[in-house]
Amino acid sequence: MIIVIRSQARNEERAQLMALLGQVSGNQRPIATAKIGEREVIALDGNALDIQTRTIISQQSAVERIVPIKTPYKLASRAFKAESSTVVVGDVLGGHPVMIGGAAPVIMAGPCAVESKEQLLTTARAVKAAGAQILRGGAFKPRTSPYQFQGLAVEGLQLLAEARAETGLPVITEVMEPEMVETVARYADMLQIGSRNMQNFPLLRAAGQNSHGRPIMLKRGLAATIEEWLLAAEYIIAAGNPNVILCERGIRSFDSQTRNLLDLSCVPLLHELTHLPIIVDPSHATGRRELVPTMSRASIAAGAEGLILEVHPDPNSALCDGRQSITPAQLQSIVSEASLIAQLLGQTARLPYVA
Ligand code: PEP
Ligand code: MN
Repeated sequence: MIIVIRSQARNEERAQLMALLGQVSGNQRPIATAKIGEREVIALDGNALDIQTRTIISQQSAVERIVPIKTPYKLASRAFKAESSTVVVGDVLGGHPVMIGGAAPVIMAGPCAVESKEQLLTTARAVKAAGAQILRGGAFKPRTSPYQFQGLAVEGLQLLAEARAETGLPVITEVMEPEMVETVARYADMLQIGSRNMQNFPLLRAAGQNSHGRPIMLKRGLAATIEEWLLAAEYIIAAGNPNVILCERGIRSFDSQTRNLLDLSCVPLLHELTHLPIIVDPSHATGRRELVPTMSRASIAAGAEGLILEVHPDPNSALCDGRQSITPAQLQSIVSEASLIAQLLGQTARLPYVA
């Protein structure tokens, strides 16, 4: 359940409520306090509480109301927050702010990995010229083999900051370790938690606590259910950062013709279950650049709030994921098609289904 705190509640009233919650939960069950918009809320699993206890809680002077939530994820649920969330990227480090979840789809694009200054700046200029709004680029790369290129680490972060300074594009990059969240947040406008780390709970908590409120794009795990994914998002929100964006990037399947299986049905399904914005990554989902334009169109038609795409000036020489990287010219067509499709469909494609 979620307890909404009265906006005028005094500290003593809050403390009294917290003491009561500690008592009724035997101090065994974690309780999350969070700020959602202007509202202060407390989330907990209320399933084990009897009606009498719930009534006592609801009568506390600090409590405005209680919202019962049946799903195991609470703060991420549409049952808690009916209106879709928007997330602003790039308003603090000098980039042009971009709103995810507004009327227009947001396109993030750039190389899988930051390889060199020249490669990144050439790509960043091309990404901007193609009309995309956010630059992507991995500085810390989670590679399957320890013998593959692992990324330029902090030097890569510095290059991303340089690319932002030149182009005005906010940047997104992956963070792999809890201890690195602060450092990455110093350089990046948005942090990515990759598929392989979707259930790295210490990392999720650190992203909630130490990211200075930078938006977190949480990619779906390689074989994660929707519920596991939403619970991973819940970890970040419960730890203190409500600016979470989900990213569908394909899930494991049996057919090796594509790298993964793009689960586009998750987009309208998530719009029913959660208020969080949803981005699709057709690059990792398909693993083949020739499929990326079509699946980009389909993603926007399914109601995605945006796309993240791998782009390289010379895909065949990319140090990472060249096979799925498109050229800047292809990006330009995707950006204009995405905008046309979104205009054609309007908001309806992104609203939860009503029977
Ligand atoms: C990436 O975005 O380059 C990446 C490694 O993605 P994923 O975590 O989806 O595999
Ligand atoms: Mn990649």
